[in-house]
Amino acid sequence: MSRPNLISKLPEDLRVTPNLADYAEQRFAFSWKAAQAELAGLPGGGLNMAYEAVERHAKNGFRDRVAFRFLGTERAREFTYLELSKQTNRFANVLKKLGVGKGDKLFVLTGRIPALYISVLGAFKNGTVVSPLFSAFGPEPLMTRLNLGEAKVLVTTEQQYRRKLEKIRAQLPHLEHVLLVGEADKPAPEVPGTKSYDALMAEASEAFEIVPTQPEDMALLHFTSGTTGTPKGAVHVHGAVVTHWVTGKYALDLHPNDIFWCTADPGWVTGTSYGILSPLLHGVTSIIDEADFDAERWYRILQDQQVTVWYTAPTAIRMLMKAGAAIAKKYTFPKLRFIASVGEPLNPEAVWWGKEVLGLPIHDNWWQTETGGIMIANTPAFDIKPGSMGRPLPGIEACIVENDGRGRVKIIDEVDKEGELALKAGWPSMMRAYLNNEEKYKRCFVGDLYLTGDLAKRDKDGYFWFVGRSDDVIKSAGHLIGPFEVESALMEHPAVAEAGVIGKPDSTVGEIVKAFVSLKSDYKPSEELRLELLGHVRKKMGAAIAPKELEIVPSLPRTRSGKIMRRLLKARELGLPEGDLSMLENSA
Ligand code: AMP
Repeated sequence: MSRPNLISKLPEDLRVTPNLADYAEQRFAFSWKAAQAELAGLPGGGLNMAYEAVERHAKNGFRDRVAFRFLGTERAREFTYLELSKQTNRFANVLKKLGVGKGDKLFVLTGRIPALYISVLGAFKNGTVVSPLFSAFGPEPLMTRLNLGEAKVLVTTEQQYRRKLEKIRAQLPHLEHVLLVGEADKPAPEVPGTKSYDALMAEASEAFEIVPTQPEDMALLHFTSGTTGTPKGAVHVHGAVVTHWVTGKYALDLHPNDIFWCTADPGWVTGTSYGILSPLLHGVTSIIDEADFDAERWYRILQDQQVTVWYTAPTAIRMLMKAGAAIAKKYTFPKLRFIASVGEPLNPEAVWWGKEVLGLPIHDNWWQTETGGIMIANTPAFDIKPGSMGRPLPGIEACIVENDGRGRVKIIDEVDKEGELALKAGWPSMMRAYLNNEEKYKRCFVGDLYLTGDLAKRDKDGYFWFVGRSDDVIKSAGHLIGPFEVESALMEHPAVAEAGVIGKPDSTVGEIVKAFVSLKSDYKPSEELRLELLGHVRKKMGAAIAPKELEIVPSLPRTRSGKIMRRLLKARELGLPEGDLSMLENSA
């Protein structure tokens, strides 16, 4: 179906006065210094993420508001800002008593349960550096990350410990303390070599004086989803909280009365920056679902929890689309007022699906583990061009550059010309290092530009359009083809739920385009449908760009944060080594 290429913002769509109302004016007037002044700062000087996110609210009128509502599989649990302050103080005291101090590293390996959120925020209070891990990681990826990050403390559950860590414990030389969290309201049983999280918490005091951290002190370590080889640990500092504040305000339009649901797991940077920090900074109530994705459950949460602002990812949206609109029709979302998405290109089809099924378009935004927060976004302040990532937020300067790969880059002034997306360095949540890998870190910068490794283009109105990861771009008979545009064209066919496109070496044209698609639940694979899909893209994109080959598959390989793993599709297609699979969903 062909649709208009602009979704205009109507006043009735907004429902509240947006924080970003005049893009040009507010961008012009913006300064990071002024933004930082909107936060409190530690009373004796310094800046601490947990002070801004929890403590200052616990001392003011927000103390009795619900900070987190955890939707467990059996029952919900709520924590007010005051309760969260007490619990995080307790955890900070636990660390102190164990002799864990400023700069030491704490890792968390649990599901999305309260202990994860309490230990992350409690660690910040103690100046301890935090790294949340995906709970589905198996022993190998855990060992790599715990050793690379020199983990001194690990918070986990008995099950996780017994299944994955007990056997490799001797190979984790830095790990001094393992704290086991009980499940289903029961403290964890005694396990040799571990301590009970619950017992330590029960003994600890509710009063704690936050360790005076400075903006440049390390706070978070996030491992990137990576492509091949060893994962990189991106280092973030307490000062990053200024970006979390500003982006929550302008890109997610958070207002104090919002009920916010970020569906990301804290094992992925989105689940920390926006699943923990940003909503707390704004004093809103966050919904945290402890269960896995289920279309019916998700619609019910949106409806029953009266979610007002929803931040999710293309993979989830595609899964909802795949489940069919009939399920959505059973629910209503009168309170929902803003939807945003991140992590992968958001196909125009998905933006429109939001408008048609949920009553609101989806606002795509772009960022990376390395940027620590949202950089480019569709905001309430301007119309959406479906398929575009939006425009740089206040405080962010983005450009397209030609990169010769040998340390020389040239800014491309022309519009609509593809090149590498680069950002002017210096925003507060920019990574400060790749842990123990200065060489790789340095290669990300040329002069005052941070090079993102993504290919994109900028249009005449200053909107940025994603083309592909530079490693995913296909070169076919002299054309440079971004997989995203081909995938988006495939997604426009009503049968297609997901599409992944790769380049396959070919002696004549360099590479041919090959597509893998999975179908929506009410379609069955057939040769006829396969040919119809090939014909559909050819008609839309022309023979030079359309896939020459197309395979219908039950599902596409995805990372735990939901990104289609094109490199794995390619390796499998070509019979090449599959490389590091620790980020592959459904792998242990
Ligand atoms: P990660 O650090 O794991 O979150 O991965 C960051 C990468 O995800 C980016 O460099 C992009 O390649 C991709 N990405 C994130 N958001 C978007 C988006 N809105 N559109 C296109 N690609 C995106």
